[in-house]
Amino acid sequence: MPELPEVETLCRQLRKTIPGRTILKDEVYDSKLSRFKEVRGAKVLDVRRRGKTIAIELDSGRTILIHLRMTGRLLWRTTSEKPQYARWKLALDGGNIFLVDPRRFATVQVAAECPKTAEREIFGDLDIKKFIELHGRRKTRIKSLLMDQKAISGIGNIYACEILHRAGIHPEREAGALTGSDWEKILQTTKTVLKKAIANRGTSISDWRDLYGRKGDNQHELTVYGKEGVACPFCGVSIRRIRQSNRGTYFCPRCQK
Ligand SMILES: [Zn+2]
Repeated sequence: MPELPEVETLCRQLRKTIPGRTILKDEVYDSKLSRFKEVRGAKVLDVRRRGKTIAIELDSGRTILIHLRMTGRLLWRTTSEKPQYARWKLALDGGNIFLVDPRRFATVQVAAECPKTAEREIFGDLDIKKFIELHGRRKTRIKSLLMDQKAISGIGNIYACEILHRAGIHPEREAGALTGSDWEKILQTTKTVLKKAIANRGTSISDWRDLYGRKGDNQHELTVYGKEGVACPFCGVSIRRIRQSNRGTYFCPRCQK
């Protein structure tokens, strides 16, 4: 599932590729997506990320909002050759953006304006003090809290495991049992792990590809995710896997307390 680094990667690449281009038409190939015509003729001004939503701002004042959900990705092609699992095409002068999405959960909408803020986001408007005030006494397990999009946006299973491993925090610790320095470590590590993943253009364990169809490089940076039985790179003890809220959680029983 694309998390914040993958969506940010697409936004950065789109920003280098489509501003200044005019929309010739859009084509919907999947009846699950609604049709809209009001973007034709508009010019792309900018591309922004709002949490995990990609916002393409147009000179008509409207904004195209794309949410990739489970398996969605965007592919830039200078030809009109339709890729497998294409559900939507935005034809621009000089090239096309295809929404490729085998499981068909991604959404595309046209909004009257671009959402203003990136609230609850560690690189956006998240107020860390307020965050700890709100969640620092809860019984929720820290890993579930990191993945709770209503608490902090953009982090899914892969990065939650990686953040807690590098911060040395056990995934089953209750939020309410964490100290001030634990929070500091977690939030600082969150920034470091996400920034590194953005620099690596995302994690390609399964189907993630960037705008140009290339794999990301961040899978080579993972220390715990998907590594049950493999030696922890920090201490040599075998990585363990448990189930938490129906998701696989990977952690090091020695490094994470
Ligand atoms: Zn370890």
